[in-house]
Amino acid sequence: MLEMFEKKQSFEKFESKVWLSSPTMYDDSMKYVMEAYETNWMSTVGKNIDEVEAMVCEKVGCGHSVALSAGTSALHLAVKLAGVKPGQKVFCSDMTFSATVNPITYEGGIPVFIDTEYDTWNMDPVALEKAFELYPDVKVVVVAHLYGTPGKIDEIKAICEKHGAVIIEDAAESLGATYKGIQTGTFGDYNAISFNGNKIITGTSGGMLLTDDEAAADKARKWSTQARENAPWYQHEEVGYNYRMSNVIAGVVRGQLPHLEDHIAQKKAIYERYRDGFKGLPVSMNPIDFENSEPNYWLSCMILDKDAMCKQVRGEQDALYVPEHGKSCPTEILDAIASINAEGRPIWKPMHMQPIYRMNPFVVRDGNGRARTNAYISGTVTDVGMDIFSRGLCLPSDNKMTAEQQDRIIEVIRACFD
Ligand SMILES: *Cc1c(COP(=O)(O)O)cnc(C)c1O
Repeated sequence: MLEMFEKKQSFEKFESKVWLSSPTMYDDSMKYVMEAYETNWMSTVGKNIDEVEAMVCEKVGCGHSVALSAGTSALHLAVKLAGVKPGQKVFCSDMTFSATVNPITYEGGIPVFIDTEYDTWNMDPVALEKAFELYPDVKVVVVAHLYGTPGKIDEIKAICEKHGAVIIEDAAESLGATYKGIQTGTFGDYNAISFNGNKIITGTSGGMLLTDDEAAADKARKWSTQARENAPWYQHEEVGYNYRMSNVIAGVVRGQLPHLEDHIAQKKAIYERYRDGFKGLPVSMNPIDFENSEPNYWLSCMILDKDAMCKQVRGEQDALYVPEHGKSCPTEILDAIASINAEGRPIWKPMHMQPIYRMNPFVVRDGNGRARTNAYISGTVTDVGMDIFSRGLCLPSDNKMTAEQQDRIIEVIRACFD
């Protein structure tokens, strides 16, 4: 397929790869890591951990934070705190990274996927309300803010309150983003952020559970360090986990956290440069509810107009398209971006389309999304998530990308529509 594209037009490659989103390091991180090394606090206890927990609480405005080995660990402990038991259904975002929903499965819960809305590409409150009609016993909702853009938090909160459901907020991608001036990661009862290598702030890995509930934070801290009881020997009354953050990783995070606002500004500039650069093309950027929210612009994405799509077919492992003048598709554009040594990525494939979750319920605005999907010929788009997945893509959004590099990426994308 790359060959096919190169026949259409070819551009000079970048010497060093332009990444989707890569870590940005500062000298301070090295200083704090060295401090840990020189004082021999090389375990899951130490000053860096204490500092990072305090810094995040101050920035985000949460009561308590527990530094963990990953965002996924935070989500797992959140699911446990929410009391999810085997066989219980849990509503969750559908168009998201699998780590949003896998922890439900770890606890034996059954993820029920809620379709996406077009305004922010997040959980659709209308579909969520429908889901409570279909499954009135559900008591836990896991909601993510995709690509750093806050979803319709007020609507979702109101629906959850009405139905007495606990909210787990997956703010792994949205650290620093605000909704009505309030930071994401504070709207749920239990909230998760991530310091994974491609996130806006990274410790190479790591994550955090955020909550205003002190007892919950204490429980999570205990569970994350093997659930030891207060006894002279290893005494256990509950199942424990090895989920605590390392003091070395905390040192990396500690040196980087003060730069969060800089990273957001850099990523916002990238978003705006793409938006301006695509003027006149039959595409739009990932949508933002500017009236209520200020994203962290973690990843810039684009979506093609329906009538600008050339024929594209995706199987479970690969994709094909037929190049067409004046039209394009995500597969062609991703090939074009890759051909100049830059990294784009398809939109996160919705969970209801994943083979592992093919039997799980999926709810769209007007009811059972599975029934609807089955009623159509396969390959036809029948829900919002599937539609955005088929027409959208993530653009190289690295904060170290230069304006000149970005301009070349824009040029290459424009050429796809020749
Ligand atoms: C990255 C990510 C996670 C998982 O975080 P890790 O720190 O990698 O475990 C969870 N949810 C979403 C939406 C993410 O993007």
